Amino acid sequence: MAVSIKSQKEIELMREAGRLLAITHEELEKFIKPGMSTYEIDKKGEEIIRSFGCIPSFLNYNGFPASICVSINDEVVHGIPRKDVFVQEGDIVSLDAGLIYKGYHSDAARTVAVGEISPEARQLMEVTKQSFFEGIKFAKAGNHLHDISNAIAAYCEKFGYGVVRDLVGHGIGRNLHEDPQIPNFTQKRRGIKLQAGMTLAIEPMVNIGTYEVAWLDDDWTVVSDDGSLSAHYENTILITDGEPEILTILK
Ligand code: MG
Repeated sequence: MAVSIKSQKEIELMREAGRLLAITHEELEKFIKPGMSTYEIDKKGEEIIRSFGCIPSFLNYNGFPASICVSINDEVVHGIPRKDVFVQEGDIVSLDAGLIYKGYHSDAARTVAVGEISPEARQLMEVTKQSFFEGIKFAKAGNHLHDISNAIAAYCEKFGYGVVRDLVGHGIGRNLHEDPQIPNFTQKRRGIKLQAGMTLAIEPMVNIGTYEVAWLDDDWTVVSDDGSLSAHYENTILITDGEPEILTILK
């Protein structure tokens, strides 16, 4: 599938999809408290998304049973919200959410701290977030896709972290997942040439230990293979001829 180039009209819709998702994340981050079930977090997220007249992108996507992926500590992504799983003081919780506004998707993830967390967890969260910003320094028309991947990997590896390889970022638009795939680890090839009007979800997933991951028996939840802490940071961005526009951060 060719990588879609969005029209000005489509870009406007994706800006709004992104803005509403940025608000959703801000609200969710304020909402999370120790002792809360991951189910409650999901219900709150769904309520916020629907209050905008939007549809949660993840609900029923390939059978995923919830609106928000809630992944705690060594869980990397795709944690299924449950009534009997509670976030605790000291946890780091990755929240991945997407929504559909007038037919267009936005996708973003944040890892949030519950109360006081360890310095190791804090550094992992900060490095994972910063690696996204290191990557998008290369996200402009004329550069190559894997310039982004290589920059993310190089930054994380300076800290000795494992950058997850089995899951990658992606193009986004009318579909939640579009071409191209966007790896976060070092690539031998340069990848496609970036063009203005591409919309991409860039999402480093980073483990303190090995980059290897495993799937739990629920067939969704991805965990670090060595049980080390994992963080996730994602935004939907628009490629332009200059600086990229981050659609899922409030201006
Ligand atoms: Mg994504």
